[in-house]
Amino acid sequence: MKPNLINGKWEATGHGVENINPSDIMDVIDVYAQAGRAETEAAIAAAAEAFPAWSLSTPQQRHDILHRAGDEILTRCEELATLLAREEGKILAEARGEVTRAGHIMLFFAGEALRQRGELRESVRPGVQVDVTREPVGVIGVITPWNFPIAIPAWKIAPALCHGNTVVFKPAELVPGCAWALVDILHRAGMPPGVLNLVMGKGAVVGQTMLEDARVDAITFTGSQVTGARVAAASLPLMRKVQLEMGGKNPLVVLDDADLDVAVDCALDGAFYSTGQRCTASSRLIVTRGIHDRFVAALAERVSQLRVGPALAENTQIGPVVDSIQLSQDIDYIATARRQGGVLRAGGDTVRLQTEGYFLQPALITETHPDMQINREEVFGPVASVIAVEDYEAALAMANDTPFGLSGGICTTSLKYASDFKRKAQVGMVMVNLPTAGVDYHVPFGGRKASSFGPREQGSHAAEFFTVVKTAYTRP
Ligand code: NAD
Repeated sequence: MKPNLINGKWEATGHGVENINPSDIMDVIDVYAQAGRAETEAAIAAAAEAFPAWSLSTPQQRHDILHRAGDEILTRCEELATLLAREEGKILAEARGEVTRAGHIMLFFAGEALRQRGELRESVRPGVQVDVTREPVGVIGVITPWNFPIAIPAWKIAPALCHGNTVVFKPAELVPGCAWALVDILHRAGMPPGVLNLVMGKGAVVGQTMLEDARVDAITFTGSQVTGARVAAASLPLMRKVQLEMGGKNPLVVLDDADLDVAVDCALDGAFYSTGQRCTASSRLIVTRGIHDRFVAALAERVSQLRVGPALAENTQIGPVVDSIQLSQDIDYIATARRQGGVLRAGGDTVRLQTEGYFLQPALITETHPDMQINREEVFGPVASVIAVEDYEAALAMANDTPFGLSGGICTTSLKYASDFKRKAQVGMVMVNLPTAGVDYHVPFGGRKASSFGPREQGSHAAEFFTVVKTAYTRP
């Protein structure tokens, strides 16, 4: 059984849960210890106790640990990618990309530990100096989803540690393997006891305990809107800082003047890669009438040719859906879209293979209307819908007609429309002639409206959440 890490010690518990491969449900990856309330409280206490010393650790110490961890992640890329593909179902090529990104994130934040920023100002009063500095926040609760099992924990834990905070990390139930491997790497890289704690277990137990404990000074959360709202509601009475990254219903606009091949590639990647299980997935394809039929025909052909298969098979393009619950949700969304008038142009059927897994041929649904359920709610699966519109103005209005605001894209050869869309799309990340995924780790990631709450993640902007500002006045 893989244990939890509490106060620098690996602690087994009486209860473990099997980690099952969604490409082959007979394949048990390992058994992972489940923390309860007591273990979670012990982890929080350890993090609180470790904070004063760690907050005063040298930037060199923090740099060196994160650097060693980044190096190890990159060196063990193939092994970690195999674990990731096996537990989450992402294909090996994408898993390699995610692990590499996690390694680069560690190295970036190793550098951030040394790149301190502060301001020295002259006061409005004579003979007084003002300096503005950043200090760590305290104990950070890190709560993560299953769809990026190593990159998301890395982009939360690395900045938390780099800026001098201590961490209690609760990964998603479905993907403890990558979480455990990441914590093991950081632990062996030299984390002092209590600075980084891992508590695997149920959201309703481990997560809830973190929400209720006033010793947790800030929570960085990625997951569903429902849980995000719970994190916010529990944190407000404690005046606790929160950062929430939640769902999306991301539009990809395709205009008449788009390069058809570019548009089809963007839609295929944006909507279906990673089995569509991305918060940035292009789930609404908003297409002007002049290109609509050609775009739909070309995309439908490519979608029906996508090779669905086990995540570890080298020729697989689309891995399995993560579990049986998600699979039945995806199937229900497709059925409801058809009942409400949508036309299933490609895919949409479950796929039987040699191993028993959660395989679904990606689905393209056309002739949809903005009010249909498929265009209002996040599916979080390999399902995309097409909405036909008259012109750019209608496309922009449609793109913004959603409670979400994470990412949005446009395929066009017009500088005028590209510039206008970049300015007016109500999203946190805009892509021109690119898939809607936010890939770069050195720039801010996040959205607006119901998709995100609080400061941005990643890059130097991560300091906004993981530090507090202090203004000091001195009369020398
Ligand atoms: P989820 O909300 O079910 O779970 C997220 C995490 O919260 C898990 O670790 C879970 O155990 C925990 N949790 C559940 N109940 C809790 C509680 N009562 N208290 C504290 N923690 C609790 O989400 P999921 O199904 O793991 O992930 C899918 C969702 O994540 C989708 O909506 C997707 O869009 C979103 N997502 C967003 C981003 C982004 O950056 N915006 C990135 C990836 C995924």
